[in-house]
This record gives sequence, structure tokens and C-alpha cells, in this order.
Amino acid sequence: MSPSQAKRVFNFSAGPATLPLPVLQQIQDEMLSLPGVGASVLEISHRSKDFDTIIEDATTRLGRLLNLPDTHEILYMQGGAAMQNAMIASNFLTDKSQTADYIVNGSWGKKSAAECHRFGNMNEAYNGSDDGFSSVPSQDQLSLTEGAAYCHMTSNETIQGIQFKQLPNTNGAPIISDQSSDFMSRPINVSDYGMIYACAQKNAGIAGVTVVVLEKKLLERCDDRLPSYLNYAVHSKGGSRFNTPPSFAIYVTGLVCKWLENEFGTLEKVGEFNQSKAKLLYDLVDGSGGYYKGHASKESRSDMNVVFTLGTPELEAKFLAEAADAGMATLKGHRSLGGIRASIYNAMPLEGVQTLAQFMTDFIASNG
Ligand SMILES: *Cc1c(COP(=O)(O)O)cnc(C)c1O
Repeated sequence: MSPSQAKRVFNFSAGPATLPLPVLQQIQDEMLSLPGVGASVLEISHRSKDFDTIIEDATTRLGRLLNLPDTHEILYMQGGAAMQNAMIASNFLTDKSQTADYIVNGSWGKKSAAECHRFGNMNEAYNGSDDGFSSVPSQDQLSLTEGAAYCHMTSNETIQGIQFKQLPNTNGAPIISDQSSDFMSRPINVSDYGMIYACAQKNAGIAGVTVVVLEKKLLERCDDRLPSYLNYAVHSKGGSRFNTPPSFAIYVTGLVCKWLENEFGTLEKVGEFNQSKAKLLYDLVDGSGGYYKGHASKESRSDMNVVFTLGTPELEAKFLAEAADAGMATLKGHRSLGGIRASIYNAMPLEGVQTLAQFMTDFIASNG
């Protein structure tokens, strides 16, 4: 048996995460020779006509899925969401008299705020650590700065499994949203944002590329004295090819978008699919009489990362071991929180979630 024919598990990893099978198959089919090119995507110049086609196709598909308005553009960058966290403050908080607001509702938001704090005036508009980051703030819990340079939020907190269901009102400050773990998982109105960014390895492809959706107006703030690579205006001017971009990762993002268009057509449909998967698990948690305890408050539950605990660490270890034996991998919660985390991004098939739900029901019956 060749490795490619080995049985695939249902992979609940938080990231890098499971990819759609048709995407992996197309990568495999084209690995040695791209149709019409005669060489691998790994071997061609990022300035070639063939790569132009690849990056343009990815951008066209992304734009269609997001209903991208003319006011915004798509950039592909390296350095992950972590580098965006540093770039945001250094590019958009250039007026030292200004303050940037950060809504901290989980571990990733905390890291974003810390990067801004190194650079300029950062106001924590909210900090949910007192309730263990179990819910997103309501509008009246926010202490926003008048005339803030921008307001940063984390759309989906991957570790705590909590997700914004509606956008905060920031009184005109551009919203900058880390959507690393829920990008393209539901419909959004791009015009509501100054910037959206998402490392690709959760919902949009593989590690190595970060997708940035940027309001062009914000480019006026980028200072010439910034290192070139760390300046959004430089990437915009270079069409994401100021230097050699992560070409293979961009190719995969294009394939993921093609799969989304073929399989679902629109992000509305993707959102419905994700909600129905998440509901299966949350209904089971709610109906378990306290056997499974969800981390998130009901209104803030993430459709992407379902986080819950069992009665004891021993029972959780047994749950994880038996799940692994039954072909469900990487369900262990983040080390900072413990428990179980099922990451069920776009590419997790319904069958995977159904298999997990059945396993959870059976587990109560045999260990209850
Ligand atoms: C995974 C993740 C990140 C980290 O991305 P890197 O590519 O490792 O820098 C940041 N924010 C959120 C919400 C994430 O889920």
C-alpha cells in the first residue's frame, strides 16, 4: 500500500488543520507537472506568466467569495498572524498622539495587544480574563477611545472557542479583525472592516501564507521609514510580489477557494454548513446532563472550535485515547486550558462530526 492510500483519520487539529480531500488530490496530481506548464508549482518563477495565472485565480476566487468591494484589496504575506500583529501597530498607529483600542477576549487577542503595547498607546477596550475568556463582550462592556487609530478584535478565539456573532460599534474607528480561525467560514460584509487578516493554516490553506484584506485608504498611513517588508504599502505596490512570495501556499489557497466555490458556492452556504456541524456537538453537550461541560457561554460559542471538559483529567485521557483508536485525532484541548477541543473548520466533513457525536454518546453509555 502506498502511503497515499493509507487510511486518513478525522483530524480535529486546531492548526495546521485538515484540508479538503479534493485539494490534496489536486496537489498530488499536479505536483510533478502543472497542466500546460510541464514543471511543478514548486519550480516556477513567481514572476512567470504561469504564476500570474495562479495568483490571479486565487485572488479572483477570494474576491468573489468575499464580495470584495473596490475600496479593499487582497495581499498575501509571510510571517503568520504573529507578524501582522506587529505590523498593524507599526503601520497604522504612526501618529504618536493617537491610541489603538484592543478588545481582548482570549489568548490571541492578548498577544495582539502586547505587540501594540511595545509600539505605541494601547487601550484595552475590554479584557475578559476575569470570566476565563468564556464570552465575547457586549457593546456596553467596551471602553472605547474617542478617535482611536483603529480597534482590533479577534473574530474567533481558537483556544477558548468563542466567536463574535456581530461586530462591535467602534464609532468610526476602522475595525481590524484577526480571522485566522474563522476566515471564509461565514458571510461577512468586508466594508465594515479596515482590515481582516488570517494565517491560512486553519481555514484557507497551509502554513506559510497569511491573507490580508485591506482597505486601501489605510495605506496612506504607512510610513516610508518602515522596513520595506514590514510596510503594507510596499506589498500593495508590488502586487504581493515585492520579494518572492510563498508561492506554493498561495497556490493551495487558490485550490481551497475553488473547492469552496464548487462545493458550496457562497459563504452563506458555508456558514449554514458550519452551524449545522457545531449544533450537533453543542446539542450533545447541552443534553449530556453535565457529563460534558462547554467552556463558552451559549451566546459566544464558536462554530469552529468546540471546547469542553469531562468530570476528571483521567476521564479526559480515556476519552482521547479511545477517540484516537476510533480514528479521531488531535482532540486534546490547548495546554493552557486542558479538556477537549474539536476544531471543525470548513474542511471537516459532516461525517467526521457525526462520528464524533456518536462516539461522545457511546462514551457516556459505557463510562457514565
Ligand atoms: C493560529 C492563530 C494565530 C497564529 O498564527 P501564526 O500563523 O502562528 O502566527 C493567530 N490568531 C489566531 C486567532 C489564530 O487562530
